[in-house]
Amino acid sequence: MNAKIVLIPGDGIGPEIVGEAKKVLEHVAARFGHTFSFTEIDMGGCSIDKYGEPLTDENLEIAKNSDAILLGAVGGNTTTSPWYKLEPKLRPEAGLLKIRKALQLFANLRPAYLYPELASACPLRPDIAEKGFDLVIVRELTGGLYYGDRWTREIDGVTTAVDTLIYSEPEIRRVAVKAFEIAMKRNKNLISVDKANVLDTSRLWRKVVAEVGREYPEVKLTNMLVDSCSMQLVHDPSQFDVVVTENTFGDILSDEASEISGSMGMLSSASLNESKLGLYEPAHGSAPEIAGLNIANPLATILSAAMLLRYSLDLDKEADAIEEAVRQVLRDGVRTPDIWSEGCTKVGTKEMGQEIIRRI
Ligand code: NAD
Repeated sequence: MNAKIVLIPGDGIGPEIVGEAKKVLEHVAARFGHTFSFTEIDMGGCSIDKYGEPLTDENLEIAKNSDAILLGAVGGNTTTSPWYKLEPKLRPEAGLLKIRKALQLFANLRPAYLYPELASACPLRPDIAEKGFDLVIVRELTGGLYYGDRWTREIDGVTTAVDTLIYSEPEIRRVAVKAFEIAMKRNKNLISVDKANVLDTSRLWRKVVAEVGREYPEVKLTNMLVDSCSMQLVHDPSQFDVVVTENTFGDILSDEASEISGSMGMLSSASLNESKLGLYEPAHGSAPEIAGLNIANPLATILSAAMLLRYSLDLDKEADAIEEAVRQVLRDGVRTPDIWSEGCTKVGTKEMGQEIIRRI
């Protein structure tokens, strides 16, 4: 396969972790007989320094014309960096909002996985943690409460605020289709989360998801109320495979799922649109205080590269190979400082990249 991949190293540890993920992708291409071409573009603080804005239209165009985008992280120290003295639309994070909006990335995927070797970092009871879990939350990202009308007004002398929760059938349908497609690539078990006992938007959500489900008879679809889901995530996360939910519920549940997996440096994410194009990035930020020290954990970015292969390029075998190499590295006790524990071998960012490549 030939694929055009755009790399956005960004700021802080971004260039180091994207550098390692790129080497892993190059190795996968050579090993499995593919040709990946890479184009690097600036976004975030580095783009502000060069062009006076966090993402230029030219660079956005390059990203739009690619098959997939891999991002490190953007931003600097929010109290000391001069980038944060600029008006909000010129700050590093505005680049992220611009690209998400321009590419209409409406489906946000947040996997959460408990590696047995890192189980001691899991805040759940040992008898729950020892069962392990491997789930992905598909969150609707561009609709719902965060995008509806809002206002604060004085009504009869009482200050009153309103936020509008709004969803249309096509908005629900397109994210449901994504979730079923993802379930087809995994264990074919989809839980749709809503609050259909109270909210009209949730009743519409449930109806549309069920309709889409008829096109995917192999996938087992279950509905779950959001309050119940938040409890089940800490009670027995092993029951989940793919979860699909609206924006606000997804925001909260995906953070809960990240937290129970214990290690931020291990978590990847993806944002997808209606085509195959997606933006893949680690769930963590740019960690400016450790930039350039060769101690950042590149595994979340390497796992994001695996998601890129799976969801944008349909290269499942290649994605499996990367994910298995990550599991193997952990089994072999190789760790960057953030996940290091007694008895393990401590390695730097670059060495971790090499250790992964050796195991693919
Ligand atoms: P952060 O995720 O960058 O760092 C939080 C803590 O985790 C720090 O102690 C950091 O050293 C550590 N850490 C994070 N990633 C690590 C890794 N790969 N290896 C080892 N340790 C790691 O969050 P923050 O400190 O709140 O934010 C720093 C900057 O990142 C800010 O400018 C923020 O706006 C930005 N940010 C960007 C994104 C993004 O680009 N998507 C997301 C979140 C935060």
